[in-house]
Amino acid sequence: MNTDRKALWAVRQCALPTVIRSCPDCPGMRHRASGNIRVNASGKLLDVWLLLSCASCDRTSKVPVHERVHVSALDPARLVAYEINSQASVRELVTSASLAAKNRYRLDWTGTWELETRMPLYALDDPNPLSVQVRFELPAPVRVERLLQLGLGLSRAEVRRLVADGRIRLPLAPDAKAHQDFELTIHGPGSVDAAKHAKSPGAPVAERTDLARIGLPPAPGRELPRRATAR
Ligand SMILES: [Zn+2]
Repeated sequence: MNTDRKALWAVRQCALPTVIRSCPDCPGMRHRASGNIRVNASGKLLDVWLLLSCASCDRTSKVPVHERVHVSALDPARLVAYEINSQASVRELVTSASLAAKNRYRLDWTGTWELETRMPLYALDDPNPLSVQVRFELPAPVRVERLLQLGLGLSRAEVRRLVADGRIRLPLAPDAKAHQDFELTIHGPGSVDAAKHAKSPGAPVAERTDLARIGLPPAPGRELPRRATAR
């Protein structure tokens, strides 16, 4: 029996999240990272800010990252990254839930990610379990059942039924939001029935068609990487 069936789903970054907070100059609420970080030194004390631009009026505003912190308290490599406006640092700061909470703004993750799968869909009907690694390229909070809908091409009701039937096993609730890597398993139509009812191998075909009959895309595209955008 093949127990090594694995697939990888990647939540890929398409854009950085939008910072939602009021602008002092206009009624606009949406801000994007300007791409810059400002570091101010006063003796041995440093202030570090992430710079944002208002999407409506372009006004620059500052989000404090470190305030009056002693230079020795910051990792030198990190300080250099801040000073050269490293895009990795900008990305890390603007996607940080803790920085958002500390500065009392909300992040809008709409349109920031897409799901890439390289799973041959015909594999879903295989009786052997398939383990799916879900990897997050950015910490976008994504509802688990939404990922399953996109990854499997199913409706929410179909996903919920498969979870309720034990065909899809998850480390967190289907309506929970995941933002970091996790693993799920998909069990073939026969395996759950067999475990539940100890059925004979001659079980009726109608009982093992759940995933086979539901909206699979036409054959030519199904082994190509598929992309589904977050909306
Ligand atoms: Zn503005």
